[in-house]
Amino acid sequence: MAIPLDQWLEDERPWAAFAACRGADPDLFFGDGNGESTGIARRICAGCPVREECLDWALEARASFGVWGGTTEQERRRLARRSA
Ligand code: SF4
Repeated sequence: MAIPLDQWLEDERPWAAFAACRGADPDLFFGDGNGESTGIARRICAGCPVREECLDWALEARASFGVWGGTTEQERRRLARRSA
């Protein structure tokens, strides 16, 4: 059984209490990465008040799976290469 995204996010990230994805279906963010689910996740992220904190965390933690801060893993790899 999947851990609810909001519960998992709050674990060590206090900003997650303000996440727009609280209560959202985790499969949208950690699903098979198809265009439809990714698009929905990114739209949720677009209106998220803690998007910047989320993306910073994902880059620092090298989150290699899922949508974080409105980015896919491929986009985060590109951002990490640019800042290296
Ligand atoms: S930016 Fe996206 S994944 Fe990150 S907390 Fe906000 S809604 Fe969730």
